[in-house]
Amino acid sequence: MTVLVVGAGPTGLALACELARRNVAVRIVDRASEYFGGSRGKGLQPRTLEVLDDLGVVDEAFEWGIEGIGFRNYRPGEPPVDTDPQAEQVRTPAVPYPKSVVIPQWRTERILRDRLATLGVPVELGTELVDFEQSADDVTVTLTGPAGTERVTADYLVGCDGGHSMVRKALGIEFAGETAETAAMIIADLEVTGLPRDRWHMWVGERGFLALCPFTGVSSWQAQAVVPDLPEPSLAAFQQIFADVAGLPGVELANPTWLSTYRVNERVVDRFRVGRVFVAGDAAHVHSPAGGLGMNTGIQDAYNLGWKLAAVLAGEPDSLLDSYESERLPIAAWTLGTSTERLRTIADGFAKGENRFSDMGGSEVRQLGLGYRGSELSREFTDRDGRLRAGDRAPDARCVDGNGVTVRLFDLFRGPHWTLLGFGAGSAVAIREAATRRPGEAFLVAPDGDVVDVDGHAADTYGVTDDTLVLVRPDGYVAAIGAAGDLPAIQEQPGWRLLEQAQYS
Ligand SMILES: Cc1cc2nc3c(=O)[nH]c(=O)nc-3n(C[C@H](O)[C@H](O)[C@H](O)COP(=O)(O)OP(=O)(O)OC[C@H]3O[C@@H](n4cnc5c(N)ncnc54)[C@H](O)[C@@H]3O)c2cc1C
Repeated sequence: MTVLVVGAGPTGLALACELARRNVAVRIVDRASEYFGGSRGKGLQPRTLEVLDDLGVVDEAFEWGIEGIGFRNYRPGEPPVDTDPQAEQVRTPAVPYPKSVVIPQWRTERILRDRLATLGVPVELGTELVDFEQSADDVTVTLTGPAGTERVTADYLVGCDGGHSMVRKALGIEFAGETAETAAMIIADLEVTGLPRDRWHMWVGERGFLALCPFTGVSSWQAQAVVPDLPEPSLAAFQQIFADVAGLPGVELANPTWLSTYRVNERVVDRFRVGRVFVAGDAAHVHSPAGGLGMNTGIQDAYNLGWKLAAVLAGEPDSLLDSYESERLPIAAWTLGTSTERLRTIADGFAKGENRFSDMGGSEVRQLGLGYRGSELSREFTDRDGRLRAGDRAPDARCVDGNGVTVRLFDLFRGPHWTLLGFGAGSAVAIREAATRRPGEAFLVAPDGDVVDVDGHAADTYGVTDDTLVLVRPDGYVAAIGAAGDLPAIQEQPGWRLLEQAQYS
């Protein structure tokens, strides 16, 4: 075995997919005896939709999700008011998925699990990591499972084992922050009749906050409530809160399938890596659900780590793995800060009987502006002031192929490989040379090229005015930008220079 992933939540599943599609031998274990059935983190942010596109499963997210849901806000004695905080987030050639998608977390996990199954990797349920020790060469772990106790050796261990992470604790990594004792809610999946399913319904008043969010393809909704003297979660408690806070005739709540209490923790690690062991997702950062970033950030941790583990296992220097921590730690800290600030704004609003949650479109929570400028992996060989920079998300653009058929840049990026774009006829020689070493990874964007930028979207979005090479990482961030003559230096990109094409499946 090469990599052991502990925890089959969204983070562990995304990581296992990333490894398996690079033909890395991976096992993924979860101590739970069955898959979790609650809706929990129910929003896929635009950047995560791009990750799912790269994994080939974004259509499933749209099939089972509601895109850009609007809110219906109710206040006692007033007619309801509809708001649409994502109205201004429109589809453009650079941003194909501008709005978030509401989808239960169990469904997102199923989509990832099904993708993993197509790669030949099953989730091993009822299998718990109970102990591990590492040396300079490997990690020896003890697992208990249906067949008893086994000791196995892996090259790397990744703890995607949630907020109470055993891996993090065993590594002695600090998890600084606080539990916001006052910020708690009860939450449930239950059936609602008498309300239209095309809106997220919210009531704010002196007696508390209640939100009912519909799902598609299932009968259940997610209910969230914040009231003084928070009761134990039960159907009766939600019915009582509905009567007190909403009091709308003709609406029935019934048949709960999941009931829970959610207490906000705001904590982040100071290290993502100790030797051959890593933490990712909730194991590394937990925060309020305001902003809907928890699961999304975990999936994007995995997306950052997966290709690097594969590259190092293929011979890249181990130092590439240090960039996982240096790139993801600032994002985890930003996520914590943003979620905390949003929670405070929402709580202040509740105290005044105002629903500020439903006004929060917030382009930053789309996570499209996050990136790795300043990372040791982001390299520029020309002056890029005021334009797309190395480390930025590599945007989409609509071009055409030689037959005039539309080709998106995301079509070129999709899959586990790197992509070298050569803008302008003057990049032709460099692209030909790169393509002999890296077939299927180098494309000339020019008249008579592999793709033609007919409307100028690509040049515009990438801020290109002359012959330019842009190297895009497997996780969709710009690694390097230079002139055609910079190919030799660009080919020295850590992670790209050694990886053999044959590795991909
Ligand atoms: C009640 C509740 C409500 C939430 N609501 C929201 C929300 O509205 N919005 C939002 O963005 N986020 C929400 N979250 C957070 C969101 O669900 C998490 O951010 C997300 O699940 C993190 O994914 P993960 O894969 O990192 O961890 P998890 O989903 O926690 O998965 C960790 C997995 O590791 C397994 N595991 C743990 N220890 C071991 C071990 N020793 N051996 C083997 N397996 C182990 C566990 O069984 C689990 O399956 C909520 C969470 C909860 C609990």
